[in-house]
Amino acid sequence: MNVNFQQENAQSLLDFIDNSPSPWHVVTTLEAQLTSFQFERLYETEIWTLKAGGRYYVIRGDSSIIIFIHGEKSVAESGFKIIGAHTDSPSLRVKPNPVTNVSKLERLHVEIYGGAILATFSDRELSLAGRVNYQNFAGNLSHCLVNFPKPLMRLPNLAIHLNRGVNEEGLKFQKQNELALILANVSAQLPSQFETLLKSKLPHDAERILAWDLNVFDTQKGNFWGANNEFFANRQIDNLASCHAAISALLNEEVLKNDNSTLVCAFFDHEEVGSESHCGASGNFLTDILQRISTATTQNSQDFSRALAKSFIISADMAHAYHPNFPQCYDGQHTVHVNQGVVIKVNVNQRYASDGISEAMFIQWCEQAKVPYQMYSHRNDFPCGSTIGSIVSAKLGVKSVDVGNPMWAMHSCRESAGVFDHSSMIRVMKQFFVA
Ligand code: ZN
Repeated sequence: MNVNFQQENAQSLLDFIDNSPSPWHVVTTLEAQLTSFQFERLYETEIWTLKAGGRYYVIRGDSSIIIFIHGEKSVAESGFKIIGAHTDSPSLRVKPNPVTNVSKLERLHVEIYGGAILATFSDRELSLAGRVNYQNFAGNLSHCLVNFPKPLMRLPNLAIHLNRGVNEEGLKFQKQNELALILANVSAQLPSQFETLLKSKLPHDAERILAWDLNVFDTQKGNFWGANNEFFANRQIDNLASCHAAISALLNEEVLKNDNSTLVCAFFDHEEVGSESHCGASGNFLTDILQRISTATTQNSQDFSRALAKSFIISADMAHAYHPNFPQCYDGQHTVHVNQGVVIKVNVNQRYASDGISEAMFIQWCEQAKVPYQMYSHRNDFPCGSTIGSIVSAKLGVKSVDVGNPMWAMHSCRESAGVFDHSSMIRVMKQFFVA
């Protein structure tokens, strides 16, 4: 594969992330792409009639989405081929009563979402994006997405003269007292700038704001770096890189032409906080949708179980690339390296869903797609993270493998990864869909 094409794939990922500053925006960005490929939205409140070869998607909670192409073969015969990933990333979220004024500064108080590296949010041009719920003049509830692309807020560091130990003890923010973000210079007479800003984004029929889900994001756009532009940096690479790889594979011409099996991309919110929600991977969203696909096309009550028994899930989430400055953090036999191939993640305690059989299957798809792969196992003396893989695999009783691309600085507000690995992941996912 030529370098230009790999660079284009990575640029497409950076654009996807830049357009998706919150999990709610991730879903609308995907929706726009799906519409241009003639996918039809299905609603859970309606009765479905599905056509063989039909392209569909379902959204739950505005931040989780299941996309599928209904195969020509019955699902009992061919099973579901599923790629799962997550739409959320660790961050800061605006609290319900967020505003305080101290020394003529309006500050916004935030709650920590997931396992963010807090210090990385300091000294960056931050802003807000998310969903605002309001009552209109007719008294009805409605909501809309808002996004402020320009820098609005900041968490300035303390000068080293006031924090002499910073380089020895590390950069720390006390979670309750030291995370409020500076939004404006205000005088007592002025209304809250936060509220004024939010109102400026609402439609004309909005009478009053009732609630919100607002994400803090870094406004700096994605960029390539390295002597030969072989790396890229952006926010939310974990896990929008996997969502982007999966959707790029699904919308590939060759995959769209090959419509035997039912192909599914399931992207969930709330992975970073444990997946327990109505639209999270631990809820019934995927089970419910797969069951409905099955019952919409067959009368036989055994067909759904038969379909699951033939199905496979690739759980795609990012992996910890070797960082040469910190060799003590890795198992020396299982280091994985940026731009040296997709990663198969193994954990016998089922933090990852892979087992010998699913690993072997994925290795074959890599070989068929001519994609390099690497094996990751966490150090025995470090606690291992987890993914949606084990959760979804257990819920459905479907065999699964956990994979992902190597990246640095997972959960930083500015993460980075490798250009070549992204194209490799798209290719092996494509291979899975057509195999
Ligand atoms: Zn992740």
